[in-house]
Amino acid sequence: MPVEPISWQRLLATSVTDPQQLLSRLNLDPSLLAGARAASADFPLRVPEPYLSRIRPGDPADPLLRQVLPLGEELTEHPDFVMDPLGEQDTNARPGIIHKYHGRLLLVVSSGCAVNCRYCFRRHFPYEDNNLSTAEWQQALDYIRQDPTISEVIYSGGDPLAASDKRIAWLTREIAAISHVRRLRVHTRLPVVIPQRVTTELIEALCGTRLPVTMVLHCNHANEIDRPLGEAVRLLRQAGMQLLNQSVLLRGVNDDIDSLVNLSETLGDNGILPYYLHVLDHVKGAQHFHVDDRRAIELAREMLARLPGFLVPRLVRETAGETSKTPLLS
Ligand SMILES: *Cc1c(COP(=O)(O)O)cnc(C)c1O
Ligand code: SF4
Repeated sequence: MPVEPISWQRLLATSVTDPQQLLSRLNLDPSLLAGARAASADFPLRVPEPYLSRIRPGDPADPLLRQVLPLGEELTEHPDFVMDPLGEQDTNARPGIIHKYHGRLLLVVSSGCAVNCRYCFRRHFPYEDNNLSTAEWQQALDYIRQDPTISEVIYSGGDPLAASDKRIAWLTREIAAISHVRRLRVHTRLPVVIPQRVTTELIEALCGTRLPVTMVLHCNHANEIDRPLGEAVRLLRQAGMQLLNQSVLLRGVNDDIDSLVNLSETLGDNGILPYYLHVLDHVKGAQHFHVDDRRAIELAREMLARLPGFLVPRLVRETAGETSKTPLLS
């Protein structure tokens, strides 16, 4: 009898959230527990099984582990690291909408995430206020209908793919019916941490309208790209989607030239183009991931020297009040 594949919903529900369990599963030093407990009280630990399985046991420096393990250091106060570094709570014009740049806006499709990334710039975002009711969804759609300059809608979150296929299919049909919208974009990390999220229903929901679709994945390290993810990406591309990737430059994860080159090459092997490499937003609790600008620019130049141009991501910063992301290399 064939074994039923485990559903993504089940994988979400069975994520590891207990620091003790994470440490023992990965054979890590129990002395990490006190810090992990303290930091996870502020922003919980959350890591799904398919991601956990790519972490090397016994290695506290593993680049995937560092992205998910709460550390006592997160609680150190630093004056430059604040709650809402991008001032997004001010551009949250309507519930569920972040409209900052010309021609495109973010729709907060789901407030949930499949993984809690310790460096996340939205770790303090008041998502509870962005769980939309049906009436609010209609208002968000009206906002797009009434502004003919909006040619692109970007599904964001949290993680937009934490929403059900039914919700995504409905929303995409509503948006495709707005004639001035030309493109749909999906910013997601979910297929990276749970490749099983890429179902036939999801592909149908996203690609079943007139809108060309770009998916921007969020991988920070080549070790995140395993066979199941490669297979999921192959299905998405087969459906006609364009695949891009954005990363965050993170100390102890990918702040060395070999990691960055290897990430770009591995993305390229899978038909995914590197789009942005973000410098870290100064969010409270993420100061231990900081890489200074001089080093970031040096790494970006080295990438230019080592990779074909189309595999070099743009090094950018997001600044409150700017009209686009700001390139660090001109
Ligand atoms: C990054 C971002 C976008 C998309 O910017 P692109 O340069 O088109 O990728 C749109 N809105 C907000 C609020 C963003 O942060
Ligand atoms: S998946 Fe994205 S939004 Fe969610 S915690 Fe990670 S970086 Fe933040």
